[in-house]
Amino acid sequence: MKEYLARDFVVTLPAADYIARFRDADRIAGYCRTCPNYGQSWGCPPFDFDAEEYIGGYATALLVATRITPAAPGLPLTAARRLILPERERLESRLLDMESRWGGRAFAYVGSCLHCPEGSCTRPEGKPCRHPDRVRPSLEACGFDIGRTTSELFGIELRWGSRGQMPEYLTLVCGFFHNATDVQWNG
Ligand code: SF4
Repeated sequence: MKEYLARDFVVTLPAADYIARFRDADRIAGYCRTCPNYGQSWGCPPFDFDAEEYIGGYATALLVATRITPAAPGLPLTAARRLILPERERLESRLLDMESRWGGRAFAYVGSCLHCPEGSCTRPEGKPCRHPDRVRPSLEACGFDIGRTTSELFGIELRWGSRGQMPEYLTLVCGFFHNATDVQWNG
C-alpha cells in the first residue's frame, strides 16, 4: 500500500490579480533571509535577476496546491521528506514540460534543490549552477505569500508538525505563469 495519498488542486486567475493581491515582496524576503537555504542554492534568493521583471508580462497564473495525506496517522516528522520527494519530482518535471510546450514561467516548490546530491550545490563556492535548465525559483522566493494563497484561493490551511510528528497533511504549492490559451494541468 502507498504510504500517502497526493491530490492536486488547481486555481487559475489573471497573473496581475495574483501579483496585486498575494505578493508582499519585502515581508516575504525577510522570511527568506532567515532560512538556512538563503544564498546557498541557485534556486533561492538573493537572485541575480529582478524578481519583478521575472514574474511580469504574463496574462495568467496557474497555481497548483498538492495535498499529501499520510495513509496512517502519527508518522514522524522525519518521514516528511520521503513523502515529499516523489511529488516534487513529479511536479517539477511536469512544470518543465509545460514551459517547453507553452512558453511561460514555472515556479517550483520551495526547499532544497533536487538536481545535485545534498550539500553539493556550487553556489557557496560562487561557481555556476550545474543545471540551470532545470532549476526554477519558488513562488515564495519571488515574494508571494503562500499561506494566504492556500487559505484564500484553495481553502487549504497550511499545517505544521508538532512534538516530532507529521501534521494531518502536507501542502506543496507550485505555479506556471503564461500567455497561452489552452493550458491544462493534466493536458
Ligand atoms: S542544480 Fe546543483 S548547482 Fe544548481 S542550484 Fe541545484 S544543487 Fe545548486
